[in-house]
Amino acid sequence: MQKFRMRRGTNARPMKPVPEAARGGALGRIGERHAQQAVEQVLDPRLAIPTLEILNQEIIECRRCPRLVAYREQVALMRKRAFRDWEYWGRPVPGFGDPKARLYIIGLAPAAHGGNRTGRLFTGDKSGDFLFRALYRAGFANQATSVRRGDGLKLCDAYIGASLRCAPPANKPLPSELANCRPFFERELTLLRPKVVLALGGIAMRAYLGMLRDGEFIKGFAAYKFAHNEWYEFPAPLPRLFLSYHPSQQNTFTRKLTPAMLNQVLRGIKKYIAAA
Ligand code: SF4
Repeated sequence: MQKFRMRRGTNARPMKPVPEAARGGALGRIGERHAQQAVEQVLDPRLAIPTLEILNQEIIECRRCPRLVAYREQVALMRKRAFRDWEYWGRPVPGFGDPKARLYIIGLAPAAHGGNRTGRLFTGDKSGDFLFRALYRAGFANQATSVRRGDGLKLCDAYIGASLRCAPPANKPLPSELANCRPFFERELTLLRPKVVLALGGIAMRAYLGMLRDGEFIKGFAAYKFAHNEWYEFPAPLPRLFLSYHPSQQNTFTRKLTPAMLNQVLRGIKKYIAAA
């Protein structure tokens, strides 16, 4: 078993050589089982069907977490007064963005009346308003608003996923639900092979690090503290991990996260990608 740790601000090198699996594959042993599925899809003569689309279809049809299935459907049925004319999506929300993205953004989960209503992550809620304004300013989106699917929004060099694809009650997922859902972002990462992962919030960071730990690339979480505008490096070809506070209303209304703070993170990512 080979383990690695390399942190910002040090001259550290990988403690041991990069493992064969990491050199050879998109994400090495991470999500090995899912990487294998991705390989099978690539070898499939029906490759004409884009693999991200296949994955998205699987996500949309998932019913693995009974509590979340019940909640997302109940919210879709009851609706909010302000959205009573909407036909809620009420299903798991797939990722979206540029299939050649070098930046993969991992959020927490769709909002009950945001993504769970519109069917697109960060779409139709205040968090999304904040995030897309920043992505637009940084050149990762062609417009600053995200209102509904089909509104013309296109991401440029960025793809948005989440650690959970169904809206959880009170925004609090259970560990078992996060574990159930993790294969979806693992597979997105395997297909996209981004240069950068941006985790929005501590839950997203831990979901990503959990994948690295289970892939035996890191020992545990102790060396990786969550801090806004922090980043961590891992051996190639693993992407660099950047961290930001989540653009939740709780954070933006209290100015724990300001537009300038998110701009700063995205500028750092742009600079890193341009030099990579
Ligand atoms: S949270 Fe993820 S694993 Fe659970 S039902 Fe939704 S899509 Fe499936």
